[in-house]
Amino acid sequence: MSDLHTVINPATAKPVIDVPLASLADADYAIERAHAAFPAWKALAPGERAALLRRFAAVVDAHIDELAELEVRNAGHTWGNARWEAGNVRDCLNYYAGAPERLFGRQIPVAGGVDVTFHEPLGVVGIIVPWNFPMPIAGWGFAPALAAGNTVVLKPAELTPLTAIRLGELALEAGLPADVLTVVPGKGSVVGARFVTHELVRKVCFTGSTEVGKGIMRGCADQVKRVTLELGGKSANIVFADADIAAAAASAPYAVFDNAGQDCCARSRILVERSAYDEFLSHLEPAVLGMRVLDPSDESSEMGPLISSQQQATVRGYLDEVDVAFAGTTPGGDGFWVPPSVVTVEDPAARIWREEVFGPVVAVMPFDDEADAVAKANDTEYGLSGSIYTNDLGRGLRVARAVDAGNLSVNSHSSVRYWTPFGGYKQSGLGRELGPDAPMAFTEEKNVFIAH
Ligand code: NAP
Ligand code: MG
Repeated sequence: MSDLHTVINPATAKPVIDVPLASLADADYAIERAHAAFPAWKALAPGERAALLRRFAAVVDAHIDELAELEVRNAGHTWGNARWEAGNVRDCLNYYAGAPERLFGRQIPVAGGVDVTFHEPLGVVGIIVPWNFPMPIAGWGFAPALAAGNTVVLKPAELTPLTAIRLGELALEAGLPADVLTVVPGKGSVVGARFVTHELVRKVCFTGSTEVGKGIMRGCADQVKRVTLELGGKSANIVFADADIAAAAASAPYAVFDNAGQDCCARSRILVERSAYDEFLSHLEPAVLGMRVLDPSDESSEMGPLISSQQQATVRGYLDEVDVAFAGTTPGGDGFWVPPSVVTVEDPAARIWREEVFGPVVAVMPFDDEADAVAKANDTEYGLSGSIYTNDLGRGLRVARAVDAGNLSVNSHSSVRYWTPFGGYKQSGLGRELGPDAPMAFTEEKNVFIAH
């Protein structure tokens, strides 16, 4: 008898379904089967591998509402987000279906022969997914990894296994050979840790907390195992006085409270030029109070609950230390609710200004000039994303270049497009996902010299 995990609907705290958890032996078995499936998957003609990925995308597309409904119930995501997330898996598969026929090597001029390079797949890739965006983060890993000719074992977060399990079934339905993509639901300390220690896993892609990510990097060092890390963030939304202040304030809540703030790209620090500070706050308050925080089974909900009672307690712990300037509402009940909350901060050493809260909490601070804004934005161990609001194009570009983060937007809060690179500076991560180069991160570059 395997252990069971009871999936909980975070909006109601009611059980949804029991999911068996993989044991260490189950994880080993999945890895060995993935290893056995690798040579045939690698040897498949590029056009055939591409066609299978396009079929997989089409099958996902035919199940968008079913996948979205699972995520609404399992993770408390809004319908709008959940449909976007399922669509993102489809889009990643279609985009990287273009890669097998385009894994170009180079021909490099040499004396006495021909020199060519090849991008060879690594073998079995282990993907460890967190609970905040179960579908997209899975797809960002498996789509380019499979396209490059690797087989994949994927561990969803224990709290949110349902969409990953369904995606594994849909892959088989689309005709992917058995064991090419295997979903292994289980504990991080068992299945996730085994991806790190098992010698047949040649790369680990991890998304989650910086603390666990550091341990994974240390563990991978034993086998010089390839590793990609997508970790935490404490991103800044920098608003200059020359921007459209009302528009910047109206959009700011959605840049941090989306997914109830459980987003590594959340703009959880707002820096406002001092001369516009009061005006900005006067527009921010009605925008926050007007957010529709509802059970996400209601299609009009803009923000749902936190994922677990533990996450709720963590976030409340941060709020207990501060005076909340203003906060929105929640529907109450047994779900894991925290209202969208705004805190003004003067001391840059405050915990709420420095640590990733991973909940619907935003901290606001004034700045004096461009240099002060950049210094304050960069005064963090993280560097994932950020926004700059200004009507001065030169300043927008200057500040975007000066902020030490991987994903900046000017007059926008967008962070993620599957066709542009995504990843962090400093302790926000290592390596990049998405964009045109993602399949390369799942290959070794091999150089071959052939003498005339
Ligand atoms: P976490 O512990 O880092 O979990 C992320 C993933 O890693 C889960 O699949 C987890 O599995 C797995 N894992 C945990 N310990 C592992 C280990 N020793 N070896 C291999 N895999 C392991 O994150 P969390 O505890 O869910 O959340 C804690 C905090 O992390 C949040 O409050 C937030 O600040 C941050 N976080 C950031 C992101 C992000 O997108 N950057 C995502 C999630 C959380 P199990 O869940 O099954 O144990
Ligand atoms: Mg954890």
